[in-house]
Amino acid sequence: MWIQGWGEVPGQLVVISGPSGSGKSTVIRRLLERSDVRAELSVSATSRVPRPGEVDGVDYFFRTADAFKRGCTDGEFLEWAEYNGNFYGTPARPVFEALADGRTVILEIETKGAMQVREQAPTALFVFIDVPNFGELARRLRARGTETDLQIHQRLVIARKERDLAHCYDVRIINDNLDQAVAELANVLCTQTSGG
Ligand code: ADP
Ligand code: 5GP
Repeated sequence: MWIQGWGEVPGQLVVISGPSGSGKSTVIRRLLERSDVRAELSVSATSRVPRPGEVDGVDYFFRTADAFKRGCTDGEFLEWAEYNGNFYGTPARPVFEALADGRTVILEIETKGAMQVREQAPTALFVFIDVPNFGELARRLRARGTETDLQIHQRLVIARKERDLAHCYDVRIINDNLDQAVAELANVLCTQTSGG
């Protein structure tokens, strides 16, 4: 199943990127709790090890690297990328089915994958969730406590490159005050989609 004419698809695709630790997951979770927003979050596949509390099929579809690569060969993914030594990809079928059904689908993905989606889906809406400054990003990653010091350092190196691509997105939201960032994203979705 592959979408030929994105312009004719009734649903709206929303791509959200931003440096690790900027608060994407937190903002999106709060957004989806709002009664005035009708959207669903795509569940990605990854070869990363689950964090404590993460549930297979809910947070991610956790795969071995070999199983992930088989999925790539089989054309299972709308986009995929390697991020800090692990693979991440968006299973295409559920996204296409939801869009064909007129629903709003959110992809929370890193920038390389987002650029792949941009080439395929010109009608998608691209949102970059950023932090007020780099020091705050480091502070949030450390406070989250889900990565080692080395992994945090590596994520901060990647974050610099990702922030350089913020200008490629339609909207940039600075997640300083959480309530305000959620409200801004809800406003963008309600303005841009019929699903809000
Ligand atoms: P991402 O999904 O972008 O990697 P998370 O949603 O996991 O980021 O957020 C990273 C950390 O920052 C979490 O501990 C989260 O609770 C915290 N956080 C999110 N938004 C804010 C905010 N506006 N102010 C302070 N801390 C925040
Ligand atoms: P994390 O390990 O923190 O869950 O995710 C690391 C990065 O991978 C984040 O920037 C996240 O948005 C991104 N990511 C999650 N799922 C996907 C996906 O399906 N495709 C791509 N390209 N990136 C993803």
